[in-house]
Amino acid sequence: MASATPEEGNLSMKHFRRCSMVLVLVVMPGAALSQASAPTAQEESPAVAAHVRQAQEIAGSEWRFLSDGFLCGRAENTIPLAIRTIPGFLVPDAPGIEPFAAFDNLYYIGMYAWGTFILDTGEGLILFDALTNERQVKEILLPGMAELGLDPEDLKYLVVTHGHVDHYGGAPYLKQEYGLPILMSEADWDYLPHDISMPYFVRANYPPVIQPERDQVVQDGDVLNLGNASVTFVITPGHTPGTLSTILTVKDRGEPRTVAMWGGQALPGALKELNQMHGSLHRFWNLGRERRVEGLISTHPWVVGNFELHARGTDDGSNPLLIGQDGFERVMGIYDECIKAQFARSLMGVQ
Ligand SMILES: [Zn+2]
Repeated sequence: MASATPEEGNLSMKHFRRCSMVLVLVVMPGAALSQASAPTAQEESPAVAAHVRQAQEIAGSEWRFLSDGFLCGRAENTIPLAIRTIPGFLVPDAPGIEPFAAFDNLYYIGMYAWGTFILDTGEGLILFDALTNERQVKEILLPGMAELGLDPEDLKYLVVTHGHVDHYGGAPYLKQEYGLPILMSEADWDYLPHDISMPYFVRANYPPVIQPERDQVVQDGDVLNLGNASVTFVITPGHTPGTLSTILTVKDRGEPRTVAMWGGQALPGALKELNQMHGSLHRFWNLGRERRVEGLISTHPWVVGNFELHARGTDDGSNPLLIGQDGFERVMGIYDECIKAQFARSLMGVQ
């Protein structure tokens, strides 16, 4: 059974521990992450159920797909299980989806399970994440750019949100071909040799992973100004030790709008990392509130509902990814409750 110490953070240990003592009787302690024997829904503890219910209340009917989906779902919200269960994750030749303009100057190119965003600043392109390998760059990213009229020679920076294969694998090839600097946090440059995602990709018969050589380090609070864009970097550990999130300006119908890119995605299983993510989320949430963020995106777009919103559209024809400050509050609130639910599960050794 997982144990916790008070110094592990600001989540309510006492509350969770009290509840977990009851559940020990019915839930097998120490259920390994790699086992598919997740307990059934009726075994969910009162503490977990309360947080899931709270997430559902924040979600209302409009956001129910988030509170009832991956984030708060039991078992599926730990990283290895996410890798195994999200469609296309372990399919080396998963096809690209139709690339699309999320905003006037921000484009999504990739597959369903993950992808890249490209910000056209007017004075060059900033690429967020790099797909998994040279083949995906050649077969998905570059054709997608051609379809959208973007010239890879205009790539100026590659921002890698975190040190998992699906985000950095194509970086060495892009560096070799286009010479663009690779930006990552110090903690995640250090983390690359320990990347826990690598064995899953190896076992799924992906081509051998080539890791980028250490390049530029991004510090928390750094701002990248290029052309008409401004990108603020926020280091948000939890998913990895140095997950990089950003707050950026984009254009929508010619108007500047502020959106946030959450780099964290799937929830970790261990208490220490869950606590880190919880702290990171609140910091990012506050910064987003201060900056009046009106949209939330991710290079795993399904995690924050980007595909759902895009497909749903809006009655007035406005951009469905502009969810307003209220929408940002609600998604952050759902994430918060789902982290707490997962924390309660982890305290019981149920991941
Ligand atoms: Zn990851």
